Amino acid sequence: MKPNRFLSLFIFFFWQVTWANKLPDDSAVPGGIVKIPVAEVGKSRPEVFYFDKKVLLTQHDQKWWALVGIPLSAKAGEHSILVRENQHETKFNFRVEGKEYPEQRITIKKKRMVTGFTDEDLKKINSDKKIMSKAKAVWSDQGANIGFITPVEGRLSSLFGLKRFFNDIPKRPHNGLDIAAPTGTDIVAPAAGHVINTGHYYFNGKTVFLDHGQGLLSAYLHMDEINVKAGQRVEQGEKLGTVGATGRVTGPHLHWIVYLNKVTVDPALFISGDIPRLEARNHSK
Ligand SMILES: [Zn+2]
Repeated sequence: MKPNRFLSLFIFFFWQVTWANKLPDDSAVPGGIVKIPVAEVGKSRPEVFYFDKKVLLTQHDQKWWALVGIPLSAKAGEHSILVRENQHETKFNFRVEGKEYPEQRITIKKKRMVTGFTDEDLKKINSDKKIMSKAKAVWSDQGANIGFITPVEGRLSSLFGLKRFFNDIPKRPHNGLDIAAPTGTDIVAPAAGHVINTGHYYFNGKTVFLDHGQGLLSAYLHMDEINVKAGQRVEQGEKLGTVGATGRVTGPHLHWIVYLNKVTVDPALFISGDIPRLEARNHSK
């Protein structure tokens, strides 16, 4: 092998390793992520808990970093994680700042998507809930795939965390990031992982749940077509399906959710480099 070829292979490998480990941005607010170095690599790998939930640990710069997802319902003030190493327990404190997310008022034309559900609708809504809570509870011990790419090319149509009103009725805050794109646009896996499940749900429409390891999960809602199956491994950039308008929507878009330690966090923190480009499309024709 020629030396320059060897060198380029080495650089490619190095780039892949660093890129695969790219950490999300820090944002110590409700719905944000806090990164805390908890131990040196080389010592035994600790276990970390936040509100009694297991927390993702990843190696970066010779340290074990805890990636802590802060719930949207979190109170501002002093928070802490518990780090357990062998029999030894240490508390790491961090501060969560308050954040007022703006309001968003949406008019849904299909009334049965907001009120006046039939018994059959309620049955479907409840069974969907059970299936999805099971999907959201998945934890796999593998090394987590954290370096995300943007799952769909489109326009940033609605931010994470907005306080929502559907037809003037207050609903839960917006737990994902909306990227609008024409029906049929490809949606790809932002990082490697396993397909937890796929389904067609009352509010969420056609949906895929992915497991990227250690409680880092992602979900893709309102899809038109689903091209993957439960249990399947997907690589970063592999097609999951296409953008659609299934479920409770006002138009075709991807509602993208990211979970850490069983709470939804702002997906924009994983793709901050791409956000200005997606945002700019709101202002161009
Ligand atoms: Zn959404």
